[in-house]
Amino acid sequence: MNANDGKIDAARLELLLGELRLPGVKLVWAKLAATADAEGWPAARFLASLAEQEMVERSRRRFERHLEEARLPPGKSLAAFDFAAVPMISKAQINALAAGDAWLDKGANLLCFGPPGAGKSHLAAALGLALIENGRRVLFVRTTDLVQKLQIARRDLVLEAAITKLDKYQLLILDDIAYVTKDQAETSVLFELISARYERRSLMITANQPFAEWGRIFPDQAMTLAAIDRLVHHSTILEMNVDSYRRKEAIESSRSADRPPSKATIKSAT
Ligand code: ADP
Ligand code: MG
Repeated sequence: MNANDGKIDAARLELLLGELRLPGVKLVWAKLAATADAEGWPAARFLASLAEQEMVERSRRRFERHLEEARLPPGKSLAAFDFAAVPMISKAQINALAAGDAWLDKGANLLCFGPPGAGKSHLAAALGLALIENGRRVLFVRTTDLVQKLQIARRDLVLEAAITKLDKYQLLILDDIAYVTKDQAETSVLFELISARYERRSLMITANQPFAEWGRIFPDQAMTLAAIDRLVHHSTILEMNVDSYRRKEAIESSRSADRPPSKATIKSAT
């Protein structure tokens, strides 16, 4: 046996692993090789272990990428959502939407209505997060911001390309659609977006007002009806007609401040 057997050029290996884009292997090979040597693993087991680690690392990186691109408001998860505050929404239904692929695959929509503070944005962001965890791609936007971007694209004659670019997101969350202003409505970019995604890619929409008040969002009544028709055709509607969670929290905390100290120290877990 040659004294050099088993010795490799570690620096060159790291370089190769980088070139080959194997971040997972690059991360663990040295430690895993030491374990394999110490425990006398067969070469095939070592290789299988490396491959597994590469898969784990890749899906971790993918998740990080998808989470970053989604621009979700931070800290809004399903775990942090108090379902007791919205009795008309079933936790089982939301969990099914978070886990299920069927509605996204057919481009079905989720429409979420309720007064300010009802928890619409929280629920939308939490669903988005859960879907990203399941390997989906999501984008969360304030509707007025997106409309502004699409208006610029229309002016530059690249509206179609801008809308096509959003196809990579299996779920596009349009937060506060009812805040679209009259002058934003006139360019009808929102209608183009809704039409382009119809039966192909899902939208989740939150709004303070249900359809009756949507005349302002689109340039004329015919387009309003056509947009609503497309949105509701394959959709789940979540009505969250509850008092503002913010206000309720504020009232509760001011009440507990009034209690005698012995009781005020007992804080509920919610
Ligand atoms: P909306 O978008 O309907 O105006 P938000 O989702 O922004 O309301 O909710 C307002 C605040 O209250 C947020 O901080 C949110 O996290 C919190 N909140 C609302 N509903 C709930 C709930 N059911 N459980 C936990 N937090 C909630
Ligand atoms: Mg909101």
